[in-house]
Amino acid sequence: MATVHATSCPLDCPDTCSLDVTVEEGRVAKIAAGNGHPATSGFICSKLARFDRRLYHPDRLLYPMRRVGAKGEGRFDRISWGEAIATITGRFKQIVEQWGGEAVLPYNYGGSNGMLTDGFIDALFFARLGASRLQKTLCAAPTTAVATAMYGKMPGVAFEDYPMAQSIIVWGANPKASSIHFVPHLREAKRRGAFIAIVDPRRNFSQREVDLHLPVRPGTDLPLALGLIKLWHDAGQLDRGFLDRHAKGLEPLLRRAEEWSLDRVAEVTGVPHEDITLLAGRFAGAAPAVIRCGWGLERNRNGGQAVAAVLAIPALLGKFGVRGGGYTLSNSGAVRSRMAEGLGTVPPDTRLINMSELGMVLNEHTMRNAPVKGLFVYNCNPVATAPDQNAVIEGLRRDDLFTVVFEQVYTDTTKYADILLPATTFLEHADVRVSYGSYVVAGVTPVVDPEGEARSNPDVFAELGRAMGWDDQAFHWDAESYVHRAAAHLRLPGGNADADVLNAGGVQPVAFPDATPVQFETVSPQTPDGLVDLTPAVLGDDPYGYLPPENTRYPLALISPANTKMISSTLGEFNYEELVVTMHPEDAGPRNLADGDQVKVYNELGEVVCLVEVRTMVRPGVVSMPKGAWVKSSRNGSTSTALCPASVNVVAGGACYNDARVEVVRSG
Ligand code: SF4
Repeated sequence: MATVHATSCPLDCPDTCSLDVTVEEGRVAKIAAGNGHPATSGFICSKLARFDRRLYHPDRLLYPMRRVGAKGEGRFDRISWGEAIATITGRFKQIVEQWGGEAVLPYNYGGSNGMLTDGFIDALFFARLGASRLQKTLCAAPTTAVATAMYGKMPGVAFEDYPMAQSIIVWGANPKASSIHFVPHLREAKRRGAFIAIVDPRRNFSQREVDLHLPVRPGTDLPLALGLIKLWHDAGQLDRGFLDRHAKGLEPLLRRAEEWSLDRVAEVTGVPHEDITLLAGRFAGAAPAVIRCGWGLERNRNGGQAVAAVLAIPALLGKFGVRGGGYTLSNSGAVRSRMAEGLGTVPPDTRLINMSELGMVLNEHTMRNAPVKGLFVYNCNPVATAPDQNAVIEGLRRDDLFTVVFEQVYTDTTKYADILLPATTFLEHADVRVSYGSYVVAGVTPVVDPEGEARSNPDVFAELGRAMGWDDQAFHWDAESYVHRAAAHLRLPGGNADADVLNAGGVQPVAFPDATPVQFETVSPQTPDGLVDLTPAVLGDDPYGYLPPENTRYPLALISPANTKMISSTLGEFNYEELVVTMHPEDAGPRNLADGDQVKVYNELGEVVCLVEVRTMVRPGVVSMPKGAWVKSSRNGSTSTALCPASVNVVAGGACYNDARVEVVRSG
C-alpha cells in the first residue's frame, strides 16, 4: 500500500521546498511538491523530483569499506562499522600524539544538509580532537562577511513582494537554475510593468522576459556598481536625508566611485554606455525599487568589494521603507541559532584552514612544519568543487595521508579514501533546515529506512566521540531528541522553533509583524550601532579598489555557474553526463570551432577535454562550464576546477573561480 509522507528539501538552494514523498513497499516511489509552504507553491525542480535515483543508484555506498588498492584506484573491501570506527579513532589518536590535533582537518560543506548534519555533533567531535578548523569559502564567504558588516544580516525583501517593485535588478544570480520559485514573481512584476535588468555574463532570460541585460565581463561588477553610483552622485540623486540618519562610511565609497567615468566603466565592463545610463535612470527614478544580489559576482578577486558596492545602492538612493523596496541576499539572518551553546562546544582556537586552498594545504612541501596527516571529508566532493583540481588530487594521493570519506554515493573523492563510511540521505534521516531564501524553518523527517548500513552524521560522530573515550553529554544524546534540541536553540522573530512541526516534516514560517519584512520599517540593520556601514572594515586596506585581471596570458574568461541540473556537485552520479563548454560564435569562428566539436580548454593549471556548444547566451570573451560537474562527465577526467586558481578574495578568503583565464582549441 502506498503512503505519503511530508518532509522538506535540504539541498543547498534558497527555496527549501515542502515535499510529499510517496512510499510503496518500503521504497520511494514519487517525490512531489508538498503543501503548507508559503512560497514554494505547487512545484519542485526536476533534480529533486528524481532524488530516488540517488537513493537506489548502483553507486550508492551501502557498507563501511577499507581501501585495498592504490589511492585513486577505487578498490575497497567491505568491513564492519566496529572495525571502521576502531580504525579511524586509532589512527586519529596516533596522529594527534605524534603531530598534534591540528594535523587532522575536517573538510565538509552543506550541499544537502541542515543543522543536524553539518555543524552539530560533528563540530563537537573535531573541537574535542583539537583539529584544524575549516574556513568555509567555496561560496558565500565574501557576501556573508559584507552583508553582516554593512547591515548585520538584516532580513531581505521577500520574493513574494517583488511584484510590487517598479524596478528590479537581478545581479549575479540565475534564479532559473538556483531559485526557481522566484521566477514566477519576476514574471508577475514584469506583467505589472516593472523594469527588470539582469547583470550577468550569461543571458539566461529572453528579451521578452526582461528589459535589459548587462553582460559584464567577469570580475567587473565593481566598476559597474561604482560607475552607477558616480552617475547618481553627479546627478544629485543620493538620498542625503536617509544617509545622514542611517548610514556611515559614505565618503570613502564616493571617492572611489569618482574614479569611474562612464567611458571607463564601459571600456572595462564591456557594457555599452547607453545601457548603463538606462539602468541608472530606470532604477533611481522608481519606487519601490529592489536588487536581488546573488553569489555570482563574489567569485573573483574583486568579489567582496563588488558585493559591498551593490548592497550600498539601496541605501544611497533611499530605496528602503516601502514594501518591495531594498535588497535581498541571504535571508537566513531572520533566524538565529545558538546551537554551539547547546553542545557545550569547546571554544576552538586552533588554526583556520581555507577550504579553497586544499590543494596547497595537502601538498606537504608547502606545509612542512604543520602537515595535514588526517583528513575527514563529509558532505562534499572536493575533487569536483575545490579550486586547482590537479593539486587537490595530487595531495589526496599522498600515502602518508589518512583519509576518511563519509558519503552517500561513490564520488570523485571517494576513490582516494582509506576508509569509506556510508551516509544516509535526507529521505532516511531527520534534519532541520533554516532557509536562506524563503522565510521558513523546515523539518526533514525520514520517510524510508536507510539503504544497507548507511548511518546519519550525528549518529556516526557521536559513536566516534564515545569511541575516543570522551564523556560529553552530546555524544550520549538519544537520536530521537536531536530535532527538539536543535529547535530549542533556534530563535525566530516572536519565539523559538516548533519541534513538533519540524519532527512531522512540516515548515514553520518566520512570523514577521506584517507577513513579510519591510526593510527599515519592520526590520532594521543588526549592526552594533544600528547604522548601515557603507565602508566596512572587512573590505580591507583598499576598500572599493579595483584589481584588473592578473592572468593575461590566456584570452578567455571561464565562468562556472549553476545550471538547471546541478546547483552544487550533488547528484553528479546521474544528473550531468557529458561536460560541455559554452562559447560565443565570435570566439568560436576564429578558432574554427563548430557546435558539437571536441575541444581542449586549457591554461597553466590544467586542461579539460569536452564538447563545445556555440551560443550567443555567453558574451564574447567568456566561456562557461557548469558548476559541480564530476570528472566522469569529462573526456579526460578533468573539470572546470582544474582550470581555476586557488587564489582567494581579500574579503573573507572567498574562492575566485571566475578569475580563471583559458584558451580553447580543437581536440582529437
Ligand atoms: S533543490 Fe530547491 S527547488 Fe529543488 S526541491 Fe529543493 S528547494 Fe525546491
